[in-house]
Amino acid sequence: MFRLLLVFVFVTNIFAYDVIKGTTFLLKLKNADEKVFKDGVELVKLKHPTKKDSYFVLVPVAYKTKEKTIELLRKNQNNTSTISLHVKDGNYPKETLKVNPKKVKPPKEEENRIYKEYLESKKIYATFTPKRYWKEPFEKPMSSKITSSYGNARVFNGSLKSFHSGTDFRAPTGSVIRVVNDGVVVVASNRYYSGNAIIVDHGEGIYSSYSHLSKIDVKVGQKVSKHEKLGLSGATGRVTGPHLHFSIILQSKKIDPLDFIVKINNLY
Ligand SMILES: [Zn+2]
Repeated sequence: MFRLLLVFVFVTNIFAYDVIKGTTFLLKLKNADEKVFKDGVELVKLKHPTKKDSYFVLVPVAYKTKEKTIELLRKNQNNTSTISLHVKDGNYPKETLKVNPKKVKPPKEEENRIYKEYLESKKIYATFTPKRYWKEPFEKPMSSKITSSYGNARVFNGSLKSFHSGTDFRAPTGSVIRVVNDGVVVVASNRYYSGNAIIVDHGEGIYSSYSHLSKIDVKVGQKVSKHEKLGLSGATGRVTGPHLHFSIILQSKKIDPLDFIVKINNLY
């Protein structure tokens, strides 16, 4: 009897999942009345891309999160249940890189510029565009070999410690870079660390970014369609050589872009 009761409580009220730091948890909702809360705040419900009256929520788990468990409260008219996300460390490898020393210890005269660029990105990523620009599944920006994965613990020039906030694709200078889904260009400029960079707003708190380009072929405010050419790869900014640094920013968090693409495309 006791065991039966335990099973019953588990099945109806508590659900638990393991989530790796830097990845996204996608929760499909059972009906339109359902609401999901985190720390007392209701999460934004997003419309399922193909199923009518169907919704989901996205919970990005920051790479540097200190939370051990994230509790989500799922409520509908007659029922409340708890979803526990057990946050796990990723088995992210270490890598050491040698770059131009100026990109590790920037000269004083560049500090203002770097800070301005940091604030600009922060403001953009915190902007929630309610409109969804995309209709179809996401694609990768290139199909070439991945030379450095998301999450790698990095040491630049033996001193600066950081983590890899995107995925690097092998791309000799001049390779065509394509946008991963429909959106609007919100940044198309040269930046201290990212070099020539493009950021695209896909709506609903989802942004993609493309760094170290040799050529930018789009302008801020321009609408872009999935697979459209954004520019050409290069080796501008803080790099060891030419490649594409690709990232996805979800609700201001730089999460594993390829993991995000797999999860969102699973809706189709
Ligand atoms: Zn990179």
